[in-house]
Amino acid sequence: MANIAVLNGRLMPLSRAVISVEDRGYSFGDGVYEVVRVYGGVPFLLREHLWRFERSAQAIQLSRRPSPAQWERWARRAVAASGHDEAKLYLQLTRGVAPRDHVFPPKSRPTALVTVRPLTPFPIDPKGGVRVVTMPDIRWGRCDIKSLNLLPNVLAKQYAKQRGVFEALFIRPAVGVTEGSSSNLFLVARDGTVVTPPAGPTILSGITREAVIALARQDGLKVIEAAISPQQLAEAAELFLTGTLSEVVPVVRVDDRPVGLGRPGPFTLQLAGRFGQWVRQQTGQRRNDENERSMAGHRPVRASRVRRRK
Ligand code: PMP
Repeated sequence: MANIAVLNGRLMPLSRAVISVEDRGYSFGDGVYEVVRVYGGVPFLLREHLWRFERSAQAIQLSRRPSPAQWERWARRAVAASGHDEAKLYLQLTRGVAPRDHVFPPKSRPTALVTVRPLTPFPIDPKGGVRVVTMPDIRWGRCDIKSLNLLPNVLAKQYAKQRGVFEALFIRPAVGVTEGSSSNLFLVARDGTVVTPPAGPTILSGITREAVIALARQDGLKVIEAAISPQQLAEAAELFLTGTLSEVVPVVRVDDRPVGLGRPGPFTLQLAGRFGQWVRQQTGQRRNDENERSMAGHRPVRASRVRRRK
């Protein structure tokens, strides 16, 4: 087992992967990234992540970038070389190395990086749930781009940590509660409606978020994408967070107020279980499908296209 990098197409031990101090990712945060979870050696929802990666790169006009099919080959190669079964696969693309100047360099080649590290499981007790705090959303107006500029998210997560809680939820004036510093937010109203803020420039629409919406609808739940006000947050019957590494996380306290009865609610537990079941089903299928090697010509498979298990 080894921590592995593929840097500009070259496979190497992670410790040997080095880039120039003039890389624009380092100077300006001028780049985009993805985090993919590997279950049992299978990168989960890789194509969905690669699709979002491509959209992020397009949104910042990052040209001469590798194709999604190329990224997929590097990612699978890195995971296989690592030998890690449960791992964190990280993809990063920057506008490359150039003398420091804000305008795009005319000639630089993007820096493309894939890394694989073993996954350190989150210290979450699914039956116990987590606590969160709220704070002002000081991020920019394009949170839908998964950009390297994570300083507000870093400060928010540190704020949460200093208060001994799992996550900080952002509140944006005139918008409402948007999402966590590295997770999406779901609310279950007293009538059982599942609500999550709409995809758009004020959130990063998570791959897990989309899967959970689809799975909840398949289970016959009513899911709406609508703004969540601080008051709705306070009155929620249940709250939970979603993310690639954390999956579905029940929230039992917000800013020292209990959510509902102060313990994970039935809808949240149902969806957390459903998500886990779906992951096992999907990754098991993928492991048995030796023919599925290249994504050329394929569109992402969406959760909504996956049949319910009998
Ligand atoms: N929002 C933000 C700000 C995030 O950083 C993340 C983690 N990538 C998410 C939501 C959850 O997205 P995903 O389910 O794709 O991991």
